Amino acid sequence: MSVTGRLAPTPSGRLHLGNVTAFGCAWLSARSSGGRLLLRIEDVDSGRARADVEASILEDLRWLGLHWDERTAPQRDRDYEPWLTRLADRTYRCTCTRAELAGLGAYPGRCRDAGHTEGAVRFRLPDGEVDVVDRARGHRRVDPATFGDPVLRRRDGVFAYNLAVVVDDLVDGVTEVVRGADLLDYTAVQVRLWEALGATPPTWLHAPLILGPDGRKLSKSHGSAEIGAWREAGRTARDVWRLVLPWLGIEGTDDLEEAALRFDPRAIPAGPITTG
Ligand SMILES: [Zn+2]
Repeated sequence: MSVTGRLAPTPSGRLHLGNVTAFGCAWLSARSSGGRLLLRIEDVDSGRARADVEASILEDLRWLGLHWDERTAPQRDRDYEPWLTRLADRTYRCTCTRAELAGLGAYPGRCRDAGHTEGAVRFRLPDGEVDVVDRARGHRRVDPATFGDPVLRRRDGVFAYNLAVVVDDLVDGVTEVVRGADLLDYTAVQVRLWEALGATPPTWLHAPLILGPDGRKLSKSHGSAEIGAWREAGRTARDVWRLVLPWLGIEGTDDLEEAALRFDPRAIPAGPITTG
């Protein structure tokens, strides 16, 4: 079936091998199905967004050959209030401070029936497990309560990523979401939000988690994993794909178009993968 996928970078740091694995996976899945790929900047947390970083990410994506069909509105230009209103009977206000919640793990739902009229807006998770279906790993039953009721709008009025990403994918007509395997279980919470908005959730595909040599999730602190560093060292996009494609279950090619012909989500290793 032809899918509508998306590349949704957050302009908080330069592209690194971890993002490239997930974006490459989204690109291959969309292309292999003959589908479409959208580009959306995820900057709802506008305090972190930086125009120069955004430009560098787009440049790196093009350099890698990860072209998109259409650019949709960045989160900074979207209005999430009507969607929050639509969820009004499923939300409540929470006045707990960070200090009060420290060390508790998942939010214990203590403000659910308090009737507060100010504070953060939280979504009241319905009881019960969610059957998370991942195209690479199959079915997995997850109780979203493990994570506690998610915040949809912060106390300072900023809409939370949790709400924004679901609304964006719904509005943009995204039918497949590809993201890192560290978010696999949290997908159960996202599924609940889709259901609460009366929509059918997309299909999910989780790319392997990529770890640095120190065993921690790859991030901007691992400078040598940045695509910018590869470019400055005179490496090519094919050098990147020669390393990354096997992490997506594709051996013996460094060509993206060729890889798309061979892409099979069931061949993606469960990971995690440690970079040298
Ligand atoms: Zn609370």
